[in-house]
Formats: sequence, C-alpha cells, structure tokens
Amino acid sequence: MAYDSVNPFDNKLNKSFADISDKQLEEKMAIAAACFEKWRHTSYAHRAAIVAKAAKLLHEQADHFAHIMTKEMGKRISEARGEVEFSSNILAYYAKNAERFLADVELHPSLGEGHMESNPIGVIFGVEPWNFPYYQLARVAGPHLMAGNTLVVKHAGCVPQCAIAFEKLWIDAGAPPGLYTNLLISHGQADHVVDDARVKGVALTGSVAAGRSIAARAGQNLKPSSMELGGSDAFIVLEDADMDHTIKWAVWGRMYNTGQTCCAAKRFIVVEKVADKFLEKFKTALGALTAGDPMEEKTTLGPLSTESALVQLLGQVDAAVSHGAKIAMGGKRIDRPGAFMEPTILTDVKPGNPAFRDEFFGPVAMFFRVKNEDEAIALANDSDFGLGGSVFTKDLERGKRVASRVDTGMMFINNISWSDAELPFGGIKDSGYGRELGDMGIQAFVNKKLVRYVEAEAPV
Ligand code: NAP
Repeated sequence: MAYDSVNPFDNKLNKSFADISDKQLEEKMAIAAACFEKWRHTSYAHRAAIVAKAAKLLHEQADHFAHIMTKEMGKRISEARGEVEFSSNILAYYAKNAERFLADVELHPSLGEGHMESNPIGVIFGVEPWNFPYYQLARVAGPHLMAGNTLVVKHAGCVPQCAIAFEKLWIDAGAPPGLYTNLLISHGQADHVVDDARVKGVALTGSVAAGRSIAARAGQNLKPSSMELGGSDAFIVLEDADMDHTIKWAVWGRMYNTGQTCCAAKRFIVVEKVADKFLEKFKTALGALTAGDPMEEKTTLGPLSTESALVQLLGQVDAAVSHGAKIAMGGKRIDRPGAFMEPTILTDVKPGNPAFRDEFFGPVAMFFRVKNEDEAIALANDSDFGLGGSVFTKDLERGKRVASRVDTGMMFINNISWSDAELPFGGIKDSGYGRELGDMGIQAFVNKKLVRYVEAEAPV
C-alpha cells in the first residue's frame, strides 16, 4: 500500500509516499515511548506552552494548511480555512483548560481521606479519517498531549501531505521528538501498533468496518478505545418549522464538505403537511449549487475526496434505485474532469432497500414523508446508527421533547452546529462509543487513580 496524494479536482497525482518499513516503525515507537517517560513528568504549564504555540502557528499559517487540504481532498477553500481555525481553537482550548479538567478530585469516604488523580498512561494510537484532515488530528492531539500522553497517528491513505504538515507543526512548536508522530503505515502494521505493549489506548475515527477491526484488536489486548464512526443523521422537519430557515440548514447540513461529514443530515424526515413545500424548496436550493475549482472562493460545489469515493457513492445510488428508490434530482457524476457528483435526492426508500440502513457519504439526501411527530421519531430511531440528528420547529419545548426521544449521541434544535471545542462529540449504536472534545474528551486515556489515607490499625 502507498499513500497517494491526488487532487480530486482533476484526479492528477500530487505526490506518492511509500509505507515506512517495520524497522522504521520500531524506531518511531521507541522514540514515542521514551518521550512519554519524560513528558509524563512535565508540568501543565510546560505542556500548554507547546500546545498553545501549535495553536498559534496553525492560526498564523491557516492559508498554507488550508491549501494543502484543498489540493489533497478537495474541500472548498473557505471551508478548509475554517477547519484550520477551528483546529487551532481546539488546541488553544485544551492548553487553557486541561489542568482544571484533570485536577485532583477530593473524595469523602466514611473513614479517613481520599482523592482521585488523573495520571497519563502512555503512548496513544490514533487512526484518523481524511474528511477533516486537521480537525480530527487536533481532536486527539489537544486533549491527549495535554494529559501527559504521547501520540502516534495513522492518517488516511489519501491525505499524506496533511498528515506530514501536522507532524511538522509540532516540531515547529518546539515539541520534543516523539511527542506527536505521524505513521505512514499499512493496516497490517496498524494491527501491530495496537498490539504493541507501549501503546496504552486507541482512538479511531472512521467507518464502522474500520471500527470493528481496530476495536476488536484493542479488546483482545485489553486496551481502552474510543470509536467515532459513521452516521445517518435524521433531519426532522415539523409542520411549525420556519421553512426558509430550515431549508438553509438542510442545504448546509447535507452539502457542507460536499456531504462527507459523519454527522451530516442524511435522512430528511418531513411531516406530511409541509413535505411538498420542503421538497420543492430543497430541490431549488440544491440545484443552485455550481461545481467548480475548490480553490476558488466563488465555487459552491466541490469534488468528492477521491475518484473511488465517487464510484462507491454512484454504486450505492444505483443499488438504491434497483431496490425501488426514485431519484427526485441528480443521481449522476458531473460531466467534467474530477470526482464531481450532482446533488441528489432519493425518495421512496423503503425498509429492505439497502439504502434504508446505509450511510451516503457525499451529496445524496434521502427524503421521507411521515404523518406526524411520532412517526418522525420512530423513523429517526429505525437506524443502526446513532450519531446526531436535528429537529426544526418554532416551539422550543417541543423541539426539546423530540430531541430527548431520538436515540443518538447528539441532537440539535433549529440548527446543526455540530462541533465546539467545549462540547462532547460522539455517538451510540454503530456510530461508536466514547466522546471527544470538551471535558469528557480529555478523560478517555488517563488513569483515574484512587489515593486513600486512613489512620487506623489493620484489622486482626
Ligand atoms: P475508513 O476507511 O474507515 O478510514 C478511516 C481511517 O481508518 C483511515 O486512516 C484508514 O486508513 C483506517 N483504516 C481503515 N480500515 C483499517 C483497518 N482495518 N486497520 C487499520 N486502519 C484502518 O473511513 P473513511 O472512509 O476514510 O472515513 C469516512 C468514515 O468516517 C465515515 O463513515 C464517517 O462517517 C466516519 N467519520 C466519523 C466521525 C465521527 O466523529 N464519528 C468523524 C469523521 C468521519 P486507510 O485510509 O489507509 O484505509
């Protein structure tokens, strides 16, 4: 296997990188483990100086980092810049708050005194996807480095230049060798890293298949893991929703990052009374997007990340149609160079159609018409996934009621503001387990150690 950086705007190869050898991998693991033995004893202030410097550099060089991303996985340049800034904010957030999050907690036993410490545990292995090439890395680097662990990371095969740029960021920020290590490795080598005794925890973001494989391996090794996997989020529209506001979020929720977001709105569940109106307006809004160079600010529809991602998505649409779904718009690749697909709406997707339970990772929306709120909730919950979801209604209390009844890790009312440094992010069911970001995100890979003091004679 090789790490190929290909520009999906024209499908031309930028650069190719070979996997590192097993010997090189061992050298990197040894350096990461040696670094941990020193880093674990450093003060929060020392760690924060380096993590905050990395945040500052990301911010100052946002254009540089964004360009690499856009040319490697096709994210529109304004979105790419936004992602770099957000990644910078995440690092800054943990530099500022980690000490507070991991402070000793006083306990009050009936006898004596006690407290709980949060100690670092060792080298953490991150396996990360291409769809947010820096944000995903910041989401593990910020908390786990501030907690006193060191990180080795396998990034996705199509974004090696982003992976290398992010590793260089740490060197530029003054990190000691081994604090953050990028690993250009195969899946087989990744298994060995999970098995490696120096690795004490595994954090994966990616597909359900990758999650099953790596989580099983971590389980065999009795290592803690966090799994941030796919989703098929419901976007519920009730009859009292503000339609213009709702349509804007529907377009953004489905089309941001060309639809390649885990918690994108993927199933549009609309109550009968407003269904026709919603569908018509949604079609018009999606139809207004125009494909173009993602490096140009005016472009409103970028390519998918790779040609193979496009081929896979077109295959899913064909399979859906052959099982009875209808195409309300789009459905084909766009007749131009690069990995472009038409914004697509599928209707009449019934249980039994593979599409009903699939994740469409691109600009394909599934539209469902339901009688009322109860049917909307039942359909939202009829999914193997449980990542996020949203509900649109003018009645906030009603929105909260619906949000409570949908079985997912996150629900949004009248918006889809997915992610903030201070808010926990993650799902249930096939969407995985554990939470990243916020206070919870830093607690994933620390030893919650009890220390108790009792002035008492041993029982005889
Ligand atoms: P993917 O194919 O699972 O890849 C994710 C990462 O896992 C890549 O680094 C990949 O490396 C690696 N990988 C895959 N199979 C592996 C194996 N058997 N052993 C070791 N490593 C393995 O997922 P993707 O298609 O790139 O990303 C899209 C998926 O990620 C979607 O399902 C999306 O919903 C999910 N996602 C979830 C979240 C969340 O927070 N819940 C966020 C973003 C994305 P290679 O590229 O080398 O195969």
